Amino acid sequence: MLSGICPECAAHVPLREDVVLHEFLTCPECGTALEVVSLSPLTLDRAPQVEEDWGE
Ligand SMILES: [Zn+2]
Repeated sequence: MLSGICPECAAHVPLREDVVLHEFLTCPECGTALEVVSLSPLTLDRAPQVEEDWGE
């Protein structure tokens, strides 16, 4: 099984075989929103936080 490393807690995060670049997922250990930033090697980074208040 493919897996990446959570940058927040260093847990192994299981990934599907058909994982795609920039896919979003959640760390099962710490709940951090993650993004696949590289497929070779498989690298995860924190997903950019969406600001709910855009100050419009
Ligand atoms: Zn984590």
